[in-house]
Amino acid sequence: MVNASIITIGDELLIGQTIDTNSAWMAQELNKAGIWVKHRVAVGDVWDDIWDALDEESQRADIIFITGGLGPTADDITKPLLCKYFNGKLVLDEKVLTHIKSLFEKVFRRPGPLLERNIKQAEVPDTCTVLHNERGTAPGMWFEKDKKVFISLPGVPHEMKGLMLQEVLPRLKTHFTLPFILHRTAFTAGMGESMIAEMIKDFESLLPPSIKLAYLPNYGMVRLRLTTSGFDKEKLESSLQAEFEKLKFLVRDILVADEDKGLEEMLGILLQAKGKTMATAESCTGGYIAHLITSIPGSSAYFKGSIVSYANEVKQNLLGVSTETLQSAGAVSEETVKQMLNGVIHALHVDYAVATSGIMGPDGGTPEKPVGTVWVAAGSKEKLVTKQFHFRFNRERNIEMTAQNAMNLLRKFILDVPEQL
Ligand code: AMP
Ligand code: MG
Repeated sequence: MVNASIITIGDELLIGQTIDTNSAWMAQELNKAGIWVKHRVAVGDVWDDIWDALDEESQRADIIFITGGLGPTADDITKPLLCKYFNGKLVLDEKVLTHIKSLFEKVFRRPGPLLERNIKQAEVPDTCTVLHNERGTAPGMWFEKDKKVFISLPGVPHEMKGLMLQEVLPRLKTHFTLPFILHRTAFTAGMGESMIAEMIKDFESLLPPSIKLAYLPNYGMVRLRLTTSGFDKEKLESSLQAEFEKLKFLVRDILVADEDKGLEEMLGILLQAKGKTMATAESCTGGYIAHLITSIPGSSAYFKGSIVSYANEVKQNLLGVSTETLQSAGAVSEETVKQMLNGVIHALHVDYAVATSGIMGPDGGTPEKPVGTVWVAAGSKEKLVTKQFHFRFNRERNIEMTAQNAMNLLRKFILDVPEQL
């Protein structure tokens, strides 16, 4: 196995001002290419810390990635540091300079001569191979030392990605003999990971050592991922598939998809296959379900719209919820979500809908209806199902849990799966 470490550089990463999205993206790409990311570390813009990280990570990995610290400002020290680390001296690279000049003229359209600090970006250590950065001024750098490869990339995500795809990954594929890493993911909803682990414990203990099982829980759902790696792709695929089929059978009652797709996407696939449409009537989720569904490209084929009926008067005026119901049962009640559902199906002329009403917190709870009490309805003109939930999380998570459960309720309604599952 070829191992990699990723070192991300920048004070902003350590104080949480910038979220390190680079290493997650890089790890995904490297994984697809058969390179295992063994370690990830973030360090500040501090000379000794970067130096130590290079020493430490080169003990661990065959490839050491470094992102960040390549800007034209004084806080960015990665380049002079790498120059010293690899015993080089900085030399001006004419090709990089031409590229920087043309970027300023044609893309950034900055008038006047190049600033000294921008010219300096064309200086590279004479001990590296320069990697062309089509999208920016700071070139990538490839060093080799004691059979280890060190790759320095800019911190700007868009530039780092371009360099990885155009320069780095193709070079790594010729430099190393890389194995295949294969994954299969089962997406489940409606059961916690501990219960699932109990349910599949015999399967898990009988898995061949070459296949690993991971549990990846998230709001109301758990992804189960099987992973294997090696050089004989066909053999790997067939053994992985055989185990995956067993797993799918064991979790059949909670299986949403046999690929890494969320409920919003699976719901869309289902509606499209049936040629049906849907809408949402949302109180406590405030349009969040509509947002999730419309985040899927092509959702206009089946999603018509949403009535965000946060206030009672909107529930009454646009959805036809009766004053009497709101007074006797309250806004968070089975009867209200039923009427909301019927209201939106008629108002937006759709085949299916979901409706939500609940108390998301932190305030608004009562002894009878504490924070986290949620009613959801899903159905069609002819038939509907309702379900009550009691979530005990913070507001953000309560909203997310309601949305996921509402989509799953509708999905099961359309598939005609009995509700207790
Ligand atoms: P630098 O190369 O250090 O000048 O960084 C340029 C920009 O990229 C800054 O806005 C950083 O906040 C951003 N950046 C640096 N490292 C990362 C990272 N690991 N993930 C996401 N953005 C980053
Ligand atoms: Mg920086």
